[in-house]
Amino acid sequence: MHNNAVFPFASEATPGTVYLIGAGPGDPDLITVKGLNILRQADVVLYDYLANPVLLSVVPPDAEKLYVGKSAGSHALPQQEINRLLVQYARSQKIVVRLKGGDPFVFGRGGEEALYLAQHGIPWQVVPGVTSAVAVPAYAGIPVTHRGYAASFTVVTGHTGTHPDNSYLDWSTLARLNTTLIILMGLGNLAFIVDELTQHGRPGDTPIAVIQWGTLPEQHAVTGTLNTIVERVKAAQVRPPALIVVGHVVDLAQHLRWFSADADTPS
Ligand code: SAH
Repeated sequence: MHNNAVFPFASEATPGTVYLIGAGPGDPDLITVKGLNILRQADVVLYDYLANPVLLSVVPPDAEKLYVGKSAGSHALPQQEINRLLVQYARSQKIVVRLKGGDPFVFGRGGEEALYLAQHGIPWQVVPGVTSAVAVPAYAGIPVTHRGYAASFTVVTGHTGTHPDNSYLDWSTLARLNTTLIILMGLGNLAFIVDELTQHGRPGDTPIAVIQWGTLPEQHAVTGTLNTIVERVKAAQVRPPALIVVGHVVDLAQHLRWFSADADTPS
């Protein structure tokens, strides 16, 4: 039973509540209808580096907008301070939006923030977002699964080495899995990742793509193989944010590239 007259559904936001909203991967049109509806009612928005600031144009003019993001190691605000502010604003009966890139619960500490709010008795909700893990490959013409190529995809952080709690990442198992491997926060460790995968049995001719600023006009995809990608990425001077996709689905980009902004460096 479809009733177009009631679309878009107007989600009513409640004062004193914190909404963890996924902003989507970059293209501002990729925020959800629910996320947009709540953002329009916000009294205060705390937003991250990867949440497209264009989205702030829908926030009421008298609302407070606080940049709390971090990029490449420079934190605008420490996590403890962000947590404290969320509680403080909620207790003063504001409609509080915590706007995070992609999906709030895919890396990026959304779970920690929710836990802190729950522990402090603050009402909170999560509005899931379109994660970069799937959307960035899609905008580069790479379906993360495809019959005959990959029956699963695996999303991991590449931020190993500097993150002691990520030591559980078992690259020997990841290398052996017949899966599309999607690595976030991995650009700085690309050489290490390629080494781990090849040493543990992924063939050197396995296709790989590194996609910078996916879904945005600045999108740039560099493709190659495990053997060639480190040099290519260096030559193309790829910078974060970038996402890595490993697997045979990467070959489909030759046929499926559709996003006109994408300036690919072909393999
Ligand atoms: N919660 C986010 C991920 C946060 S971790 C999500 O669901 O998408 C941040 C990492 O995500 C970046 O280091 C990068 O690897 C990836 N990323 C996010 N947006 C991206 C984009 N537009 N293009 C390429 N990579 C992106």
